Amino acid sequence: MRGISRVIVIKREKIKKFIDSIYLPANLSLMNTAYETLLKRKNLSLTAVRLSLLEVVEQNPHSCANHIYEAVKKKIPTVSIQAVYNNLNALTDAEIIREIKPKGHVSLYETRVADNHHHVICRNCGKVKDTNCLGSAPCLSPESDHGFALDEAEIVFWGICPECQTNPNEKKEKQL
Ligand SMILES: [Zn+2]
Ligand SMILES: [Zn+2]
Ligand SMILES: [Zn+2]
Repeated sequence: MRGISRVIVIKREKIKKFIDSIYLPANLSLMNTAYETLLKRKNLSLTAVRLSLLEVVEQNPHSCANHIYEAVKKKIPTVSIQAVYNNLNALTDAEIIREIKPKGHVSLYETRVADNHHHVICRNCGKVKDTNCLGSAPCLSPESDHGFALDEAEIVFWGICPECQTNPNEKKEKQL
């Protein structure tokens, strides 16, 4: 029985891929098939805006809502900023994307979720880089956990990026 149901699943996947290849533009193919599965698993419907938004965030990690909106608008001219905000919230709630809120910045979004990675941020220009967690969440131990079941330590490393170290007076536009 196991073997038979397995064959059926593979066939269904093949058919789905074939259908996707017909209906989705060439540049939205493989990545979107993965996101489609993810959206379905979280009971979110597949919309053109959601797929376009995920593609933008995937290709431009740590983007703010405005930048995401501008990029999605190039593909879907009718999209509204409100629709982008609503979708960012829905995808964040579903843990398909991750929202980070560094002090003094607007929210930034990324598709790299659930790996407890941390961020290195430039105080001068606001550049954000990922850094892997050396342990597992929560990777710091508090002096007292007060009986809480702790699952995360929110860690941001602040400093000055190499470019700003070279040109300390050149303050680039921050994503504020
Ligand atoms: Zn910098
Ligand atoms: Zn990140
Ligand atoms: Zn860590």
